Amino acid sequence: MTELAEAIARVEGAASPLPPRRMRLLEACGRTLAAPVVSDVDSPPWNRAMMDGFAVRNDDIALAAGGITELDVVVDLAAGDVTALAIGPGSCARIMTGAPIPPGAEAVVPIECAVDDTRGMHAGTKVRLRDEKFRPGQHIATQGAAFRAGQQVLAPGMTLGAAEVGLAAEAGATHVVAAPRVRVAILSTGSELVAPDAVPAFGQTRNSNGPMVAAAVTLLGGEPIPLGTAVDKPEAIRAAVMQGLAADVLVLSGGVSAGDLDLVPEIFRLCGVEKIFHKVRLKPGKPVWFGILRREQSAPTLVFGLPGNPASSLVCFELFVRPAIRILAGRPREEWHLPRARARLAGPAKAAADRPVYLPCRLSRSKGGLEATPLPWSGSSDLLGLAGAEGLIALPAGGRLHEIGDEVEIALRHE
Ligand code: AMP
Ligand code: MG
Repeated sequence: MTELAEAIARVEGAASPLPPRRMRLLEACGRTLAAPVVSDVDSPPWNRAMMDGFAVRNDDIALAAGGITELDVVVDLAAGDVTALAIGPGSCARIMTGAPIPPGAEAVVPIECAVDDTRGMHAGTKVRLRDEKFRPGQHIATQGAAFRAGQQVLAPGMTLGAAEVGLAAEAGATHVVAAPRVRVAILSTGSELVAPDAVPAFGQTRNSNGPMVAAAVTLLGGEPIPLGTAVDKPEAIRAAVMQGLAADVLVLSGGVSAGDLDLVPEIFRLCGVEKIFHKVRLKPGKPVWFGILRREQSAPTLVFGLPGNPASSLVCFELFVRPAIRILAGRPREEWHLPRARARLAGPAKAAADRPVYLPCRLSRSKGGLEATPLPWSGSSDLLGLAGAEGLIALPAGGRLHEIGDEVEIALRHE
């Protein structure tokens, strides 16, 4: 039996980032950038009007006697319009937000500062402006104020969220180099399993692990490859495992404990998967199996055999599969695991004598800090207790009854 910390360390040691590749910008959304993005333009690319109004010379407004300036409107500029016409003393351009400031103009006076109605106004007319809050240079975004052509705007290691994708687009990067999506094959074993759309007959159980693991993979930004179920027959499991070994990660559930029909460890061996650990000092999740299929020329496949009981499966997924997917996806170490926090117990929680235990809880913030309320939970097959759990209370072995008010460690389920 492997100690929990040792098992986690072995997963971390076996996983390494997938080689990054060039992909379309939107495909990289949610992934880790592997090469810098350098802009080919200044931002803003030219001095840009930030208000609808009049592009003026500073002195014409700043020095206006009585606060009112009358100016000749010499050109009309909407976004997308350009002009070579220079704005001389006593003149201005009517300008819309997003248009380039014409030569000679230095500030924008908002349309609200026109003394008369400006509707229907066009070049060739006069306008009277009064701007009591005028500052020289106002309402212009100056060329290069945000960044310059040739500047790195996104660094390797950053995750591409919406703002980062927008910025890359502005910088002219239609393609970026990023970590590929981690492909995770998911196989549920057990002759008792039926699909969720079936009404289980006596002795049958709906396959909940398959959709659950697929959901967990999706939430981590991976690509689930559902392989359905295999009955407890060596040929059936072996055929499905062979398929699953084409993925970056294979997550199988069921058939890994010590029963007669727990055929999976032997099948992994026959398929050339090297065992790294089998059985971990952990509750729930003790039967968990982990290994690796190494290849001469290409990346290995990491192989997890999770216990069939759904709650055990999910706890094992969070503790072992999550870091593997994160590492393959090129994420930094601080994102490998569920975040941890300390909390005070709002109800008693019993440790197991011989192994660390994970118990679902709800979390709330009080004056004294984080509070953890253990959820009613009947153990390794109970998903109702886990659904809605905001955290897992992690109690060390020793069998102690932790009382209300005791400080405990929590693995937070929502990041
Ligand atoms: P096993 O690990 O194969 O011994 O299974 C342990 C328990 O988990 C049994 O009660 C199985 O019926 C149940 N189980 C196994 N696989 C699944 C699954 N995919 N969905 C729901 N329950 C399962
Ligand atoms: Mg089984």
